[in-house]
Amino acid sequence: MSHSILRNKGTLLLGDDKVSVIRAARIIQNGGLVAFPTETVYGLGAAATDAQAVKRIFKAKGRPSDNPLIVHIADIEQLNAVVKTISTRAFMLAEHFWPGPLSLILPRADKIPAVVSAGLPTVAVRMPDHQVALDLIRAAKVPIAAPSANRSGRPSPTSFRHVLEDLAGRIDAVIRSDTCPIGLESTVLDLTGPRPVILRPGGVSREELEAVLNCRVPILGLNKVSGIPHSPGMKYRHYSPQAPLVLIAGPAKRRLLLIESIVESYRRQGLSVGLLNSAIQEYMPLKAGPEMLAAHLYDSLRQMDHRDVDLILAEETEIQGLGLAVMNRLRKAATRILKV
Ligand code: AMP
Ligand code: MG
Repeated sequence: MSHSILRNKGTLLLGDDKVSVIRAARIIQNGGLVAFPTETVYGLGAAATDAQAVKRIFKAKGRPSDNPLIVHIADIEQLNAVVKTISTRAFMLAEHFWPGPLSLILPRADKIPAVVSAGLPTVAVRMPDHQVALDLIRAAKVPIAAPSANRSGRPSPTSFRHVLEDLAGRIDAVIRSDTCPIGLESTVLDLTGPRPVILRPGGVSREELEAVLNCRVPILGLNKVSGIPHSPGMKYRHYSPQAPLVLIAGPAKRRLLLIESIVESYRRQGLSVGLLNSAIQEYMPLKAGPEMLAAHLYDSLRQMDHRDVDLILAEETEIQGLGLAVMNRLRKAATRILKV
């Protein structure tokens, strides 16, 4: 059968074959919402030129309206419909990293309604490195605005099952496909200031950006002086499982001693602890390397929910390459950070 008519609480489950993708594209063209796979995480897409459809994304996710979305394109020419101006630097970065997990912040074109960018004069844009996502955008013949396809505040989805856990009955369709290979969101790079600045670490590492730009690229968090976040999404607690998550930082030996004593004291009280990435390994061995940690992080957090653990312990990891993005997500998911 070329396409599926399965539904989950009213949400259509589509395959990733050509017929199904065309059907998904029709839904987008008619102002509907479709969750689709990318190389980073699942996105929740609507036509980026349709303000009403974009508003439905915020509603379905429970996303605060001051948190802007990323616009996805399938061809470099489509940039003209999304941004007002393209600097030589932006073009060079797009040529080098697209399709891929790099979102560029550029001046927003008039065709893109303000709601997409939460009222900002800028817009985030990227070309995903996933055949199904590219086919969907091409078939819809319109740039697609898409944040991650989770309920706001929950771990991002890396499979269609995660999408259904959070959004079944709240969106029109989800495309069933393979998992998302990178497993973490894109790097957000602001190109609207005097020099490029990373607003969110992600799938493209700082080292890769610095090699191509041939300069240091700072990472901006909260502006310590004014307390105003430069990237609106950064002020929210994110990626959170249901149980409290404690992130343990410090020398490896001391981390281990602390973990052992916490696990022991919980056990004595009849409570369970889930170890996320640890030398005493359950989910992801610490020595696994940042790519593997990234690929399994969100699914592991959701598995902790299914196991109904009382506490999740995570260990600090190296911040080289993708490790920087992994640590950024762990810090945001953490209810507490313990330094030993
Ligand atoms: P999500 O699509 O859920 O990964 O979230 C996209 C994130 O990109 C937002 O939370 C913002 O932090 C960032 N972002 C998107 N558009 C802009 C923009 N115009 N200016 C600054 N940051 C942006
Ligand atoms: Mg998100």
